[in-house]
Amino acid sequence: MLELVYPNIYCNKIPLPRNPLKTLNSYIVVSPDRNLIIDTGFNQPECEEALFSGLAELGLDLTKTDVLLTHLHSDHTGLASLLEQKGARIYAGAKESIAIRKMNGAKSWNWMGEIATLFGLDEYNITVNDHPGYRYRPLPLANCIPLSEGDQLRYGDYTFSIVDIPGHTPGQIGLYEAKHQLFFCGDHILASITPNITFWDFEQDSLAQYFSSLRKVEAMQIDWLFTAHREIVRDHKTRINQLIGHHEKRLAEIMHILGDEKKNASQVAALMHWEIRAKNWQEFPKAQKWFATGEAAAHLEYLFNTGQIQRTTTAGTMYYQLNG
Ligand SMILES: [Zn+2]
Repeated sequence: MLELVYPNIYCNKIPLPRNPLKTLNSYIVVSPDRNLIIDTGFNQPECEEALFSGLAELGLDLTKTDVLLTHLHSDHTGLASLLEQKGARIYAGAKESIAIRKMNGAKSWNWMGEIATLFGLDEYNITVNDHPGYRYRPLPLANCIPLSEGDQLRYGDYTFSIVDIPGHTPGQIGLYEAKHQLFFCGDHILASITPNITFWDFEQDSLAQYFSSLRKVEAMQIDWLFTAHREIVRDHKTRINQLIGHHEKRLAEIMHILGDEKKNASQVAALMHWEIRAKNWQEFPKAQKWFATGEAAAHLEYLFNTGQIQRTTTAGTMYYQLNG
C-alpha cells in the first residue's frame, strides 16, 4: 500500500507475515532522472508482491533506481538481490555491505552455536533454522556499493548525506536531508516499539554504541523522522529520551535480577519482563528466546564494560555477578 508522505516521497507498507513487527516502511524517493528505494522486506512471497505492486503503481524504471539498505537485517535486505537482477544499483554502509555479503551461507551463521553455549542457550536445542533472519535471508548480491559518513546521494531537489548510527546493528546508516530536515533512520528509532539491541561480539558494546548514536541524532535538526516500522516520528527528541529511559530501566532491572547469585544471559532473560503473548519463559518460541537472550547479553556486557558487574567463563558459558 503506497502513501505519499512528503513531496515525491512515498511509503510502501510491506507486510511481514507472522512477525511481531507487522510491516516494514519501504520508502521511495522519485525524481526525473533517478529514484531511490530505502529497504525492501523479507525474501518472502508476500513481501515481494507488495514491494513490486508499489513500484508498478509508480511506474518506476528499475534501471534508473538505487536501493539503499539501512542495515543487514533480512526484513530490510531480503529482496535487494531481486531488485539488482532487474537493474537497480544497491548501496549499504561500508561495514554492513561486508556483513550482507556473508549472510547468504549457513557457514556465516555458525557463530550461533558458539553463542548458544556462551549464553547458556544450548539446552533448548536451538539451531540456525529457528532464526527468521536466516530463513528469509537475502540471496547473494553481485555488487553492494559501500557508503561512509558524509557521502551524498542526490535525487531531484533532495540531497541526502549518510550518517553512521551503529547500535541496533554494528553498521547501520541513516540518510539526512538538511534542507528539508528529513531523516531516514532505519530501525535506530521506532515510534511505538523499542528497537532490538543485541550482543554481536566482544569487540563492540552495542548498548554503548546505541546510546551514543541516540545522542548524535538528538542533536540534529529533524522535522520528519522516517522510521522503518510503524509510525513516522515528528518529535524525535522526546522519543529518544524515552528510549534511553527504557534501557536505563532495563539495566536497573538486570542488576536486581542478578541479586547475590551469578547467572548466565539466558537465565537473566528468563527472569526479565517481556511484552509477549507467551505466559512464561518455557512457552517462549525458540526465536524469541534468542532475541530475549541477545538483548539481556547486550545489557550485561554494558554493565560489565562500565565496571558495574563482573563476569567469569565456565565450560564456554559466561556468568555475570554483582561486584563483591
Ligand atoms: Zn533491524
